[in-house]
Amino acid sequence: MRKILCIGSHPDDVELAMGGTVASLSARNYKVLLLDLSNGEPTPSGSVAIRMQEAAEAARILGVQRKTLTLPNRYIEDTVDNRMLLAAEIRAFAPDTIFAPYALDAHPDHIAASALIGAARFYAKLSKTRLPHDRHFTERLIYYFPVHLRIHLQPSFLQNISAYQEQKKQALLSYQSQFGERRILLEKLLKENEHWGFLSGVDAAEPFFQHEPVLFSAWPEGVP
Ligand SMILES: [Zn+2]
Repeated sequence: MRKILCIGSHPDDVELAMGGTVASLSARNYKVLLLDLSNGEPTPSGSVAIRMQEAAEAARILGVQRKTLTLPNRYIEDTVDNRMLLAAEIRAFAPDTIFAPYALDAHPDHIAASALIGAARFYAKLSKTRLPHDRHFTERLIYYFPVHLRIHLQPSFLQNISAYQEQKKQALLSYQSQFGERRILLEKLLKENEHWGFLSGVDAAEPFFQHEPVLFSAWPEGVP
């Protein structure tokens, strides 16, 4: 079974950027783990207990496992200690693919996480370290796009999430402390998926970026 590790700075980052893709991977029996670097609190309307409950519910709706680490929200940094911490998590789960935030973003935690994840992926394959578990190299590192920075980025590929857009919306609605009073913002963010879908001839899609070339071992669904 192929294993996919989706890392976010805060609970809801992965759901916002790639909730439909997570649901589609889960439906295809991939083993998916959502890994939050922090608990995402404080926020204006949240608390740690509420956010953890919301995050657990979102993972349940998407049909995946979730783990939340204890790095400090708003102060996430790409340090050697944090690389070691995250590399140990990567070794423990041994994913085939890691999803990480794109390096260009408005939120400093997302920018730091992007660099931290790239470094931890490298550390996880090292021998002769004090890291636990067997050394592991994650084959693919794929970046999901920011929602805090309103810029147009050219994706490497799109994932068709037409059948999973509603599931994504429901997962995001579990974060009542974040979107309860910002329902319109959430609707607008979901419209972005319809925009990417329009460009690719489906109802909804999510954009992704890879520095390394995209390799298909078989024609993806929909390609003649
Ligand atoms: Zn975030």
